[in-house]
Parts: sequence; structure tokens; C-alpha cells
Amino acid sequence: MDCSAAAGTLGSAMAEMMLRLHIESKSFRTGRGELPVLGRIDIALGAREIVALVGPSGCGKTTLLRIVGGLDIDFQGTLDWRGAAMPRIGTVFQEPRLLPWRTVRQNLMLVQRTENPGLVNELLHTLDLAPFSDAFPATLSLGMARRAAIARAFAIAPELVLLDEPFVSLDPAMAARSRELLLTTWRARPTAALLVTHDRAEAAALADRILLLAERPTRVLEEIIVPQAMCRSDLMP
Ligand code: ADP
Ligand code: MG
Repeated sequence: MDCSAAAGTLGSAMAEMMLRLHIESKSFRTGRGELPVLGRIDIALGAREIVALVGPSGCGKTTLLRIVGGLDIDFQGTLDWRGAAMPRIGTVFQEPRLLPWRTVRQNLMLVQRTENPGLVNELLHTLDLAPFSDAFPATLSLGMARRAAIARAFAIAPELVLLDEPFVSLDPAMAARSRELLLTTWRARPTAALLVTHDRAEAAALADRILLLAERPTRVLEEIIVPQAMCRSDLMP
């Protein structure tokens, strides 16, 4: 079990801080009044740190990721990118959301601001998608579609990756393989990452740090630093 290979060891990852998120509160206005979703939450994220957000369904995990991704600006609080501009953010949504009329390769090329076929080829290879690069999304299994969505997130050479339950509803073998390929991709090009999952074992297999979230309106119940000895050693069969 070699943890030294992981670029995101906590010490170095935390040394270079990317984000300080402070949420005072977040609610949605619904037909039945205000729905408080997020309570007071403070999250610091290092530049090459993987932080897992683990919490029950409906507690506000996707809402939290949307705020970090700049997709929802209607909240009380601050997103502090440590004085820098907002980083390039690659997002893996809960559903793969590939364009159905484009091939896998085209889905990756489309998100790049400057065409970088070398990076696209590398990602297709690393994520075991090379044989399917000219396939259309409808012909892919869910596992492959999710890996294509991961490849697309990394195709923009992101500084931060947001992953919203990327392995949910995959069979255990496919989920384990996909976790391994995600880590291989991440190791080749380490980024900061926020990983939403409801699976504590998955969080422990992938993350440097786990934040356990409460029921809605959510807050951080507990922070668990994943021991070096455990880090990414087994990706759960
Ligand atoms: P999670 O990802 O943890 O399952 P979400 O962040 O998707 O939870 O949702 C948290 C709560 O906010 C849920 O009760 C959901 O129904 C509600 N919600 C999410 N988006 C909206 C919206 N745009 N308008 C109203 N309610 C919403
Ligand atoms: Mg969600």
C-alpha cells in the first residue's frame, strides 16, 4: 500500500489553499414557503486535495456543489478563491449528460476552449474508453457513460473537479474499476476535488478528508481525516 504516490497527501495539499467556502444559509422558495437546505457550513479545500461530502439523500449535497460551481449564486455566504480568479472547474453531474448526437470523442473536444486532441486521447486511454471513442452515448453502458463524463470533466484541464455521486447505481465491480480509473486520471493531473457520495467506504477509498453532513438543513457533523495508511489502498471490490 503505497500512499506516497498520491500527490494529494494532506500536508502538501492543505499547504496550498484553493477555496474557503463559508455558507451562512441557503434556502429555496417553494410553493409551500421557504425550504431551508443548508445551514452554517465552512469548508476549506487544498489545491490538490480530494474532499468527500457524505450525507443522506436530500440533505443538500448537490445544492452545495452547485454553489461551489457558480451555478447557484442565491445563498448567504462567501466563496473565497484565495484572492485568485475562479478556477477552471470540471463537473461530473449525477447523470452523465453527454450530448447524444455527438460521439464520445466529440463530447470531450466540445468542452475544450483550445482544442487539445493529445489530452483527449490521453483521457480516452486512461479511462479505458479508447475503443469507444467514436461511439454514440446511447450505445454505452452506464459505467462507460459515467467514465466518459469524468473524461469530459478532465478535458478542460480543470483546477477543481466537482463529482456528484459519479458511481451511484453501478454494479460493485464496475464501480471499483471506475474508482481506480478516476484515481489514475487524477494522479496524472492532480486537481482539487469535491466528491459527493452517500457511500462512506467509497469516500474513505478516494478522499483525503471526509465531511459527514447532517440531515437538511445540512451542516458538517464530523470531519474525518483519512489516515495515510488507508489512503486509496483498496478501492473496494
Ligand atoms: P442531495 O443532493 O443531498 O440529495 P439536493 O441538494 O439535490 O440534495 O436537494 C436538497 C433539497 O432541496 C431537497 O429537498 C430538494 O428537493 C430541494 N431542492 C433542490 N433544488 C431545488 C429547487 N431548485 N427548488 C426547490 N427545492 C429544491
Ligand atoms: Mg444530489
